[in-house]
Amino acid sequence: MAPLSLNPRKAKIHRSYSVAEVAALFGVTRGAVRTWCKADLPAVKIAGDLLIYGEELRAFLEKRRAARRAVCPPGSIYCMKCRVPRRPALEEITVTPLMGTAGNIRAPCPHCGASMNRRVSLPRLAESGFAGVGMRPAQSHLDHSPNPSVKPHFDGKE
Ligand SMILES: [Zn+2]
Repeated sequence: MAPLSLNPRKAKIHRSYSVAEVAALFGVTRGAVRTWCKADLPAVKIAGDLLIYGEELRAFLEKRRAARRAVCPPGSIYCMKCRVPRRPALEEITVTPLMGTAGNIRAPCPHCGASMNRRVSLPRLAESGFAGVGMRPAQSHLDHSPNPSVKPHFDGKE
């Protein structure tokens, strides 16, 4: 998995990169770079390898970062697969309390079915457009709710 935030400025705009060079530069796998090319990173095929222009690489990563920072409208969760915010069915949402008043809400994307996650403030669930979701018992989901972005041994104390 690629790190959540890659610094677009690592890409020098006046040079070009092979897939292996991009992978080394950003600490991602070559497969990840090829996936970017299949998405919307422009690349030129030369002698069986892909050549990526630094300027386009930087623009691609900036766009990607902006999309991840985009604020979701109330009641919706950003689907990483569709690359747009989606509004899940209320009854399919599960809430997992995290540290402090934070929580993670999780629901399948109504469009592609991929699992979507959104970090929320539990006391402000209604403001996030998830009124009523907090009423559902979430305790039973605690044990097997994977949350790789959170420190695994966090004990709940600040
Ligand atoms: Zn989706």
